[in-house]
Amino acid sequence: MIREKSKGLLIVVSGPSGAGKDTIVNKVIQDMKDTKLSISMTSRDPRGKEVDGVDYYFITKEEFEERIKNDEFLEYAVVHSNKYYGTPKAKLEEDLNKGKNVILVIDIQGALKVKEKVEEALFIFIMPPSMEELKDRLIKRNTETRDKILERFKTAYNEINEYTKYNYVVVNDKIDKAVEKVKSIITAEKCRVDRIEDIYLNTKEEFIHEGLINKEFENNEIEI
Ligand code: 5GP
Repeated sequence: MIREKSKGLLIVVSGPSGAGKDTIVNKVIQDMKDTKLSISMTSRDPRGKEVDGVDYYFITKEEFEERIKNDEFLEYAVVHSNKYYGTPKAKLEEDLNKGKNVILVIDIQGALKVKEKVEEALFIFIMPPSMEELKDRLIKRNTETRDKILERFKTAYNEINEYTKYNYVVVNDKIDKAVEKVKSIITAEKCRVDRIEDIYLNTKEEFIHEGLINKEFENNEIEI
């Protein structure tokens, strides 16, 4: 009997705003039934059509700080100058223990903290095809003021050089191709020897008992 590890795989996905990581990850979880998304908490305000409890849990700065004190986050970071973002620990552990693979879509500071704490986690970096394309995507999204777009672009510029700290890089030039790549990476990682929990091969005695092989075979006296 051969079994994958019963605990799910923790997958960290990062990349600059506008690289398309949310779109990619949403398609991946639609296709991979044993894989789900961790919903982060943030102290920033909802944007556009974002829904509380779906896109994020939107909480106040004070509530966030209270939860930090209570050690409720696997990691948290201050992103875009002054807003908190964090991964709630309890739900994540529950899902992993149930055997679900859980994807965290978090920034690089958060990813590095996860790397320190969870050695076996998988790290994927989503790259835009070019900085020019990234700028166009941020402007087209049209959900923010010009100042905020500029700030995101600046952050992106700094973040992009950090891809070497990840296990895999996926360039998002065509969304469907990028989705297939991420799915393939997850599938391959689940097959890695160090992620296989239990390989039980029948002993020779059992095979002999069942008549599948005989003594001569055991003694290498016969040719196959
Ligand atoms: P946005 O405001 O565009 O939704 O997200 C801004 C950045 O915060 C993105 O890079 C996103 O990946 C990151 N982020 C979202 N949730 C978390 C989290 O729980 N922890 C950390 N460290 N970053 C997060």
